[in-house]
Parts: sequence; C-alpha cells; structure tokens
Amino acid sequence: MVKPTYTRDAVRSALPRDTMPDAEMDPTTAYQLVHDEVMLDGNSRLNLATFVATWMGDEADRLYAEVYDKNMVDKDEYPRTAEIEERCWRILGSLWNVPDVTASIGTSTVGSSEACMLGGLALKRRWQASRRAAGLSTERPNLVMSSAVQVCWEKFCNYFEIEARYVPIEADHPCLDGSNVTAYVDENTIGVVAIMGVTYTGMYEPVQEISAALDALQARTGLDVPIHVDGASGAMIAPFLQPDVEWDFRLPRVHSISTSGHKYGLVYPGVGWVVWRTLDALPEELVFRVSYLGGDMPTLALNFSRPGAQVLLQYYQFLRLGREGYTAIQQESQDIAKLLAHGIADIGAFDLWNDGSDIPVFAWQLKAGHTENWNLYHLSDRLRMKGWLIPAYPMPDDLADLTVQRIVVRNGISRGLADDLLADIRTETEWLDGLSSPMPSEGQRSGFHH
Ligand SMILES: *Cc1c(COP(=O)(O)O)cnc(C)c1O
Repeated sequence: MVKPTYTRDAVRSALPRDTMPDAEMDPTTAYQLVHDEVMLDGNSRLNLATFVATWMGDEADRLYAEVYDKNMVDKDEYPRTAEIEERCWRILGSLWNVPDVTASIGTSTVGSSEACMLGGLALKRRWQASRRAAGLSTERPNLVMSSAVQVCWEKFCNYFEIEARYVPIEADHPCLDGSNVTAYVDENTIGVVAIMGVTYTGMYEPVQEISAALDALQARTGLDVPIHVDGASGAMIAPFLQPDVEWDFRLPRVHSISTSGHKYGLVYPGVGWVVWRTLDALPEELVFRVSYLGGDMPTLALNFSRPGAQVLLQYYQFLRLGREGYTAIQQESQDIAKLLAHGIADIGAFDLWNDGSDIPVFAWQLKAGHTENWNLYHLSDRLRMKGWLIPAYPMPDDLADLTVQRIVVRNGISRGLADDLLADIRTETEWLDGLSSPMPSEGQRSGFHH
C-alpha cells in the first residue's frame, strides 16, 4: 500500500453503506475515509445548540487517550477507577449540601437521561412500597413536571409505564412554580420533577417554592410528595454562581439530584451523575451487588458495560479546577452569555426571553410586528452559512406558536468569538430586514436540540 492516499482503490470506489465490505483495507485508508466523512459535521466548537463539553485541554486529552479502555462495570478489575467514581459522587453530594455524605448514595451514569431514569425509578418503587404497605392500589402511578421537561422524562414515563402529568408553561408562568403544581398532584403521584436549567430557555425552576407548595399540601392532606431535581446543567452552575439559591439537599423534600457531567461538569460526552439524600430514598431492590475487593459494591445502572474514562476525566476536572476554577469558568460563560443577550437585544428586532443570568443559556423571539418577511428559522439558516449552529424551535404546548432561538454559552466560547458572533447576527439581521419581499420558504426547521 504505497500508492498515494487518494489514488487507492478503496478511496476511489463508493463507500460501503449498507453491507460490510468483503475485503479488508489498509488502516491508514480506513482512517482517512472516516476522518474525511466527518469533516462535513461542522465544527463542534461553533455548535451553540449543544450543552455538551467540546473542549477540555491537552492534559485531559492525554489522560483520555490513556484510559479509554476502562470499562466502568469492571469494579473488581479496576478498583481505583471504582474508588474514584465514589469520590466523584460524594464530591457532588457535598457540593449539593447533602446533610450526611456517609448516609447518601450515588452513581455515575452515561448521562442525565440515565440518571433521571434511575431517580424516577427510585421514586416509583418508594411510592409502590408505601402504597402496598397501606393496602392501596399501585396501578396508576403519575409523575408531575413542567411541559418544558427534557425529552428524557417523556421517555422515562413511556418506558416505565407512568402517567406523565405536564403542568403547562404560559407567558406569565414561564416555568413550573409553586403556584399551580399541587393541582396536578394526588395520591398516585410518585414525585415532582423540578428542573434547574430548563432546556428551552435556561431558566431555573424555583425549587424552594415548589417544595413550599408541597409542604402546604402535606399539611392539608397528609400527602408527602418527594422532589427529584433534574440539574442536568444547573446543578453544576448554581453551587458556583448562585450559592444562596436553595434548590438542593438543603430542602428536605429533595430526595435525589441528577446532573450531566458532560455539560457544565466540563467533561466530554458521556457521563452523568445521580445522588440520593439517604439510602432510604433508594429502595434496596434496585441495587445490585457485585463483588469488589472481597467486599461487595452496590451498583445500579441501566447499562452493564460503559466507559470509565469519563469518570476519570470528571475527577481530573475536580482536581484541576477546584471550586475556584469552576467558579471562574462558569462566571466567564455567564458574562459572555449576558453580553451576547444584551447585544442581541440592542439590535432592536428581538425580545429576550431571558438573559443568561440563571445558567449561561438564553433565548429570544422576534419582536411582535417586526417583520412579515422573515422569521428566526431564516436567521438560523443565514448564521449557519457563516459556520454558527444556533437553532430556532417552537416552545412547548400552550406556547407552541412561539418560535425562539437559543444560545448555549460553554467553556471555550471566548470574548473574541462572542464579538464575532454578535457582528454576524447584526449583519444577517440587517440583510433580512433589507428584503423587499418575504423569504420564499418558511426557513429550515433545524429541530429542537435538547
Ligand atoms: C440535557 C438535559 C437532559 C438529558 O441529559 P443527557 O446528559 O443529554 O442525557 C435532561 N434534562 C435536562 C434539563 C437537560 O438539560
């Protein structure tokens, strides 16, 4: 195989798409083919749709390359990796003010979706156990949450046969709050999900107010309904940027908290975490025992094998950054989010939905009556031509007529890039405003990036 790369037979023939090729090929050729095909993906650093970390730095990249072969489930064979996983969820538990870390339990997962499912399953089993103990039916469990929940909760309810009760968001209740939640709760409610960092807009749901409303409900009716906090992004922002907001284990009603290590935990995909306040919050029958260093090690996860490297990268970030480093990074992301949000508001064509002061994520809509000629899908398309991936999408349910566009600011979106982005948004808005007739199509529906 000494032929020049792009003259080799395998490169000059059509790529196999549906069946495995009969013959082998040189690894350098195969490498080049895959490498070249994904060039068309676009640049992940300019993907302002995703919450997921796209930059970690050279030392992390080196560590990743050294440990990519670790299977997280082999706790007996990789006891140090298993030990580091434990350290990580304990660090998170204390970051979230768990009253007694030695009485708590947690695990890593492949992401928040799996973490949320485990949290939800624990709620379901706990509810079933207490209903059975009281001789009551366990046939119709329901889960109460905002209509703006991430799709993983719809999946959870679908896969595990639970009625999903969505509390609609409205213009004057832009997220789930204490004012209306209890109307949806009854004796069959396994729990309430509160979101720290709604994916559509980046806003925090007021967990404290939701909790207070459930306290009042308990005083009135005796129903004791636990909360799972879906802190996919916010659980790694609030401890650093809004330490006084009480959303975590400081609220006794919060039984469990999940987060995505690969979002503002600053690790490449995929790692998530879930921590329960106490062992009681996690019914024993959900925990499997594997032998570990002659003792036994509790595990709970939907998958068996999964990568251990991300867990080690999470620990690397905790060591590398500490509280100071996380605070500095999240603060910088927030400063840039606010700068972008206010810069976009200054253009005059848009109304901000929020400005990034919860998590560094914000959304905007076209000002009512601004134009009939174009919409945010067109703006999204125009920006894509310049390399920026900034989705436009409809809000959920009752607000589905409303289109918003959203930017997620992450570590690695520098001030310089933000200035360039703002200039491009201004230029493209002016270009669209200069049209003398409507854009021909409705604009490309880029689809909602959760
Ligand atoms: C991203 C997100 C999820 C899903 O997390 P993954 O880590 O992508 O599985 C769940 N809930 C919220 C609020 C999210 O932002």
